[in-house]
Amino acid sequence: MQHKNFKNIDKVTYGRGAFAQLAETVEPIRKENNHYFVYVVDHYFKGKELAGKLQNKPEDLVYFIDVDPHEPTTEQIDTLRDEIIGSKGVPSGIIGIGGGSIMDIAKALSLMVTNEGSSTLYQGLNLIKKPGIYHLGVPTISGTGAEVSMTAVLTGPEKKLGLKCDWTVFNQVILDPELIGSVPRDWWFYTGMDTYIHCIESENGIRNNAFSLAYGEQALKLCREVYLGDKSGQTPENDDKLMVASLMGGLSLTYSEVGVCHALSYGLSKIHGTRHCYANCVIFQHLHDIYPVGHGEFMQMIKTHNIELPQNLSKDWDDATLTAMATVSINLPFMWHHAFGDDWQRTVDIDYIKGLFKRL
Ligand code: NAD
Ligand code: ZN
Repeated sequence: MQHKNFKNIDKVTYGRGAFAQLAETVEPIRKENNHYFVYVVDHYFKGKELAGKLQNKPEDLVYFIDVDPHEPTTEQIDTLRDEIIGSKGVPSGIIGIGGGSIMDIAKALSLMVTNEGSSTLYQGLNLIKKPGIYHLGVPTISGTGAEVSMTAVLTGPEKKLGLKCDWTVFNQVILDPELIGSVPRDWWFYTGMDTYIHCIESENGIRNNAFSLAYGEQALKLCREVYLGDKSGQTPENDDKLMVASLMGGLSLTYSEVGVCHALSYGLSKIHGTRHCYANCVIFQHLHDIYPVGHGEFMQMIKTHNIELPQNLSKDWDDATLTAMATVSINLPFMWHHAFGDDWQRTVDIDYIKGLFKRL
């Protein structure tokens, strides 16, 4: 078996108020390239308190990006890259402030300012030719683990696939739990459940090992404190924990693998545009037989926080739609292999996956 060998984030700052250290953190990098930074900030913060605390200098470019119309696209990255290079040349670094979508935009931009042509050329593993530039991530919503992963997921004309390589990983991440305090309750639930599901899937499969389990168990413990029990809910204490859980859940799946829920989730997202964390929740409620313990807890968390998930979605899906969804899912064989073992193909085929989608 090939053992995974991953690059970590170079530096991490953690703590309430840590965002105030942004300017001093990036100061030594300002001497690089054309001595300016590009900020990509979630549109949500425009006009909010945080927008007045960006610590940017007059020469910096600040973009507020609306991530709601669609997840990041290759076209969006190419256009932004051309605009940045065209106006001020290669920046010293990119600073991303937002959720998973903004993390991915910042990572992708840092690579694309030094690699010629369209980002569609680089969707896949180790296709990037030159190192990118310094990039720093400030997550404002926790769950996907995008702050720690080696991929920048982009939707292109042909595929939804990440730019994946060692250079994708952030040079610096600032984890400031104050920043996730304003996340709406339903998103707080869906994105946190992404972490929870990462850990359950990472543990329940053949690639699980002591290294991934150590991160996964700790992240699960934190998720249970945040979403179950007496002190559960959206509190500052729980935000402190959720931010760490997201990072550790990401590390857990990195050294193991995700499983059935994520394989199905990509099918649902690709064909219906359903967003990642929400799609996982919509699916996980039906995986009682595959992840019995995790499912039981998940349903308890749904109940505790009065979350309503849609039912009977599949009644509107004809056979061609189900086949298209199942085709996306089966093309993630490493996830099925992890979940069902070496003879996974004895259980899993297109019809089996269509059966799972019919539960939705
Ligand atoms: P997101 O970035 O798409 O944001 C979700 C919503 O929350 C948006 O409306 C945003 O404006 C809002 N928001 C963000 N921070 C907020 C705050 N502090 N207060 C109020 N609102 C806030 O959310 P996400 O779920 O973190 O990211 C999903 C994206 O991440 C998808 O594009 C998916 O493809 C990608 N993803 C990447 C990886 C990876 O490893 N790179 C892994 C999983 C998912
Ligand atoms: Zn996920």
